[in-house]
Amino acid sequence: MRIACLGLGRMGWHIAGHLAAHDDSHDLVVFDIVEDLGRRWVAEHGAGAADSVTTAVADADFVVTSLPSDRELLAVADDLVPVIADQAIWVDHSTTSARIAREIGDRVSAVGAHFLDAPVSGGVDGARRGALTVMVGGDEGAFARAEPLVEAYASRVRHMGVSGAGQLTKMTNQICVVGLCQALAEGLDFAARAGLDVEDVVQAMLQGSSTSWQMENRADKMHEGDYDFGFSTALMRKDIGLVLDEASAMGVSLPVTALVGQFLADVDAMGGAGWDWCSLMERQRRFAPGTSGKGGQAAVHEPDGGAQR
Ligand code: NAD
Repeated sequence: MRIACLGLGRMGWHIAGHLAAHDDSHDLVVFDIVEDLGRRWVAEHGAGAADSVTTAVADADFVVTSLPSDRELLAVADDLVPVIADQAIWVDHSTTSARIAREIGDRVSAVGAHFLDAPVSGGVDGARRGALTVMVGGDEGAFARAEPLVEAYASRVRHMGVSGAGQLTKMTNQICVVGLCQALAEGLDFAARAGLDVEDVVQAMLQGSSTSWQMENRADKMHEGDYDFGFSTALMRKDIGLVLDEASAMGVSLPVTALVGQFLADVDAMGGAGWDWCSLMERQRRFAPGTSGKGGQAAVHEPDGGAQR
């Protein structure tokens, strides 16, 4: 069995790594548009590096992609669709619009192969640990064939429906999470200004009704002002854009999602496009009066109306 992995970025690097480690009976080939990435990946994991999408995909039974957005996915599709083998399965882990997933699904079906839109949740750490959640849209028979492969790097894989359903599920995930992170930023800022020990407050809340994955995994980073890791503000802004376009076409109102999107534009303007998006905390600190910014101490509220530093 031959597998081609295209896109060796923060997520794709680990996904391809798990496939390489999973079963050495298959023939794995990798490609990234950044040539050096392919060379470095092969130096670490073995397998072969291709010099183009076309050579990587030729004769592949499975193609696995992890690309930034619609634009790169379309560019890859233009090279890939004319050469993809009959009955081959293309599993795409990029987060894109549902429209582009359906469009590419149709183009791939027309040449006798299959396309699964399979965005992921779980972040770089989930990819590194092989514990991603994968939400899949597309043909059920193709899903059944691809599932054992995807399980090499996922702890949960679910078929969500026809082409585009994976992307719509991922959008729902993003809608559900954006407000949580902003609420956590507001809560941590409030606790600091109230003069509480923020780490103690988090410990007290972790088993209570306000607990969340964000609180468990991001509260300490937010408190310390450490944002140099993870899922970037730029990528979260892309995801929110996809969600708002889809919601607008459906006539669905998403006021909190839209607002957090604007807050992330502020983070971007602060130079935080590459920071993890929990840097919403930094905006909360800086945009409120009397605060000292990244990693700094928030001003403490004094009940006697004293100085707001
Ligand atoms: P990334 O930018 O680190 O990686 C994308 C890779 O694709 C880059 O190495 C880039 O060079 C490569 N690429 C671009 N065009 C190409 C082409 N034509 N051919 C081959 N390679 C090409 O992005 P990432 O953080 O790994 O995210 C990938 C996808 O996964 C995105 O859609 C993102 O929204 C989604 N995602 C990311 C995370 C995360 O925590 N980083 C979490 C969940 C979902």
